[in-house]
Amino acid sequence: MRSLEAKLADLEEGEQALAFSSGMAAEAATFLAHTRAGEHIVCIGDVYGGTFELLGDNLPQIGITTTFLRGDEVGRLPEVLTDQTRIVFFETPSNPTLDVFDIAAIAEQAHAAGALTVVDNTFATPVNQSPLRHGADLVIHSATKYLGGHFDLTAGALIGPAALLAQVATWRKNLGHLIAPETASLLARSIRSLPVRVRAQNTAAASVAAFLAAHPRVTRVNYPGLATGDHKRIMDARMRAGGGMLSFVLDGTADDTAAVVDRLRLFAIAPSLGGVESLVTQPITTTHHGVTPEERALRGIADSMVRLSVGLEEADDLIKDLDQALDAT
Ligand code: PLP
Repeated sequence: MRSLEAKLADLEEGEQALAFSSGMAAEAATFLAHTRAGEHIVCIGDVYGGTFELLGDNLPQIGITTTFLRGDEVGRLPEVLTDQTRIVFFETPSNPTLDVFDIAAIAEQAHAAGALTVVDNTFATPVNQSPLRHGADLVIHSATKYLGGHFDLTAGALIGPAALLAQVATWRKNLGHLIAPETASLLARSIRSLPVRVRAQNTAAASVAAFLAAHPRVTRVNYPGLATGDHKRIMDARMRAGGGMLSFVLDGTADDTAAVVDRLRLFAIAPSLGGVESLVTQPITTTHHGVTPEERALRGIADSMVRLSVGLEEADDLIKDLDQALDAT
């Protein structure tokens, strides 16, 4: 475990790292260690469903409340920060709209209010983005995804200064959130190929995104590498590449979209991400099923949205597969 943690700290350019049994274990221990009853968290943009539940349903039961800001409301951060705010939390890029947030600008505002900035770097990976370098205090990973990379383990990681990890380590121990030794060695093995995997996935995802952007049935592609305007400025300043995740919106109904997804041969239907095999999911039926249609509309999560996690297959084969699935109707 110690050698895994040393690797994780190096990857994220942090002083120390803690390994956990899952990404949610890392999040829960971090929130519990750094907030008390009566204190407050701000969560920006779209986050994993489990994170929404933890912050929105579980932590309020013990007096820790969260204000959720949609991605397009990030400008309201200074208004919602209070004397009691201890943490500003966000994913960048976010799921499933692949919004990118300016870590440095958010960290500056959070610090001015005395709050920590905690960034979930699962989608970007340390290969594509280094949040600590841009002012984040702590970085979280669901290591179940890219760090593990083979869909055969669940694990989590937290990286940052030793002084901020010490309290979290106590919670990790007493909640029983330690990583199992066999999983730690499997994860350390996987991390050896992380840069090679992620670079190949970056290149293939960029080709897939360009193909989709030119397809007549596709009305929108969400991919950091294709960002324009403010998102492009943030992407260029904070990320080294666009990553292996993207989503797109079809000009059809939810049923037409499900039919396209069903016709794909090389993309397995599954809500996980970040591994060697390509995956596809329709967010309204899986990851964002629990979000109301009104809220989904506000967040740009269309019924006809498809999310792709690009694996290590040849980009040309993935494009041919998408082409046949899109053209069949
Ligand atoms: N963070 C992100 C961005 C995720 O996608 C997930 C899970 O899908 C989590 C955290 C939670 O991680 P885990 O499934 O390892 O508990």
